[in-house]
Amino acid sequence: MKSMSPVWHPFTQHAVQPEATLIAGGEGAWLETGDGRRIFDAISSWWVVTHGHRHPHIVQAIKHQVDRLDQVIFAGFTHEPAERLARHLIAITPPELEYVFFSDSGSTSVEVALKMALGFWRHRGENRSRILALEGAYHGDTIGGMSVGERGVFNAPYDPLLFDVDRLPFPSAGREQATLDALDAACRNGGVAALIVEPLILGAGGMLIYPPWVLAEMKRICRTHGALLIADEVMTGWGRTGTLFACEQAGVTPDIGCYSKGLTGGSLPLAVTLCSADIFDAHYSTDRTRAFFHSSSYTANPIACAAALANLEIWEREPVLERIARLTTLHAARLDRFRENRRFANVRQIGTIAALDIAASDAGYMAGIGPRLYQSFLARGLLVRPLGNTIYIMPPYCSTAGELDLAYEAIGEIADEIE
Ligand code: PLP
Repeated sequence: MKSMSPVWHPFTQHAVQPEATLIAGGEGAWLETGDGRRIFDAISSWWVVTHGHRHPHIVQAIKHQVDRLDQVIFAGFTHEPAERLARHLIAITPPELEYVFFSDSGSTSVEVALKMALGFWRHRGENRSRILALEGAYHGDTIGGMSVGERGVFNAPYDPLLFDVDRLPFPSAGREQATLDALDAACRNGGVAALIVEPLILGAGGMLIYPPWVLAEMKRICRTHGALLIADEVMTGWGRTGTLFACEQAGVTPDIGCYSKGLTGGSLPLAVTLCSADIFDAHYSTDRTRAFFHSSSYTANPIACAAALANLEIWEREPVLERIARLTTLHAARLDRFRENRRFANVRQIGTIAALDIAASDAGYMAGIGPRLYQSFLARGLLVRPLGNTIYIMPPYCSTAGELDLAYEAIGEIADEIE
């Protein structure tokens, strides 16, 4: 039966999926439904909530900002939250990243990055417009994001809108050199503007992990051939992989970095694309046609910027990295028992992200088992949203051992049930 609600939900097949669960509140690692049930948010509400829902410092900052300035056009005008936030971001990222461009979502931060890369080469008068991307990548659902992401069921109808990119094989264990060789060969062919990667782990592409040395090598090869490296840290940023940013583990500075999700601690939509001075300078000219032509109405919304500043203060004042290290250890201890279990494969972890594949007749995002798993977790009061037969847990950093136990016990029970 068709829903009574006029709301069309994202990544939702309304004809087969049950009605959306009404959420009325959130606190810490928990959501509360309209009828008073509690749900453990084991995926941080699509990977955005880092310190927990409604962290008091962020809530306070939002309230404070609402009383001063809600919104202002960001062309020709600026405001203190954005100025302070930009300086703070520059201070915590590698020194080579010197400029901050604001937008509203992970996808738009990627669009901005791609446009910056193409604009850079155009304004320098070099004919470089090819983009390289990893097989299996996910970079968002705008046209540029889809173009550089994996092609498949998600974007097949929109294919006529998408541009071609050169794909490098994913650097799976033992096959890393093939990726690096493909990168080198593509660069030698010429015309490469940039390589875009999700550093250390493909998120929506199946929580696939690759080692830091591969990322370091990718950077080295790009540098050798003068190609830009775009790091899409939309998912990996803000501590998810164990360090503030994933690139740190490889000692890599991207030429362009995309950050969103946990930027506001998961409270409000905001994104930034950081770039090197070279990229800014290529657009800097008395020629007005060389301006960076990108905007959205809510660019650098002051309330969202205030929330992001509060998030950065939490990182300074609270032992966030220690919480992350603790969560990392808690995951590791709980994952072990699944390693010898024949119903699971590819038990893996990086920092606060743990994933494993459940044996099923079909694999991949559209695997039939996915929706069944989702419902089974939900029935147990857990928000876990498997990527097909890949179950992953990526909770807020305030999650306790007991809360994680709920998730891991459910994984075991659900596997028993399904068998
Ligand atoms: N890039 C990566 C690596 C992501 O994981 C995502 C979202 O999951 C995006 C970009 C798109 O972000 P958003 O959904 O905020 O547009």
